[in-house]
Amino acid sequence: MRQTARNRSRRPGALAGALALAAALTGACGFDPAQSGAARPAAQGTRAASGAPAGGTPRGFDEREFQEDVGTAVTITDDFWRRHWDRLFTGEYDSPRVAGLYDGRDPASAPVCGRERLEPDNAAYCPAGDFVAWDAHLMRSGYARGDAWVYLVISHEWGHAIQNRLRRGLVSPAAELQADCLAGAVLYGSSDDGTLKFEDGDEQELVDAFKVIGDKAPWTKPGDHGSAVQRLRSFSRGGENGVRACFT
Ligand SMILES: [Zn+2]
Repeated sequence: MRQTARNRSRRPGALAGALALAAALTGACGFDPAQSGAARPAAQGTRAASGAPAGGTPRGFDEREFQEDVGTAVTITDDFWRRHWDRLFTGEYDSPRVAGLYDGRDPASAPVCGRERLEPDNAAYCPAGDFVAWDAHLMRSGYARGDAWVYLVISHEWGHAIQNRLRRGLVSPAAELQADCLAGAVLYGSSDDGTLKFEDGDEQELVDAFKVIGDKAPWTKPGDHGSAVQRLRSFSRGGENGVRACFT
């Protein structure tokens, strides 16, 4: 995916069908790709002497493009909500803080949420601090599969920040599925708005991403989890029908 000034609308209607036979996974803001053989960082858990970024880097990995995509995902997601908030909700939109990348294996790096440090290999929205953050291993190993990964993770976590800004009655008991729906609404809505361009392979990458994600965030409740099929279906609903479809 990339940032663009050109509008090229893509509809995700085929996505849900593409995953119909995938095995159900228990989930996360579980985004742990290790369970399905994702590429793992070459220098796992150590800071390489060559000056590689904390968290290690998979072989053949373009760190500069990765950093650019993470930045673009944050920008387009925040811009989407700022642009559409007035039409959807009351009050004013305010952005969550972006703690961004952390090394979950290094206690000094992982942000504290309430009284707990964020876990390795996960991504999170922290209601206590109103920030979003993502583990560097998780993001780099997912990105090694394709750039759509970081857009999905970031727009999903942002979805939790949005939920936290709404009346409780609007937040679905299936909070993870609703966050997936909001992620779909943001990515396809940004495509419609002309701020994000889908490239060949992105939609397959999204399908693949849903095969490997789960939800282990400690503040989620039983019933929040969805199977990969349910999660992709929810994402597609937001993508096809927009934000309002995530609240029906
Ligand atoms: Zn989540």
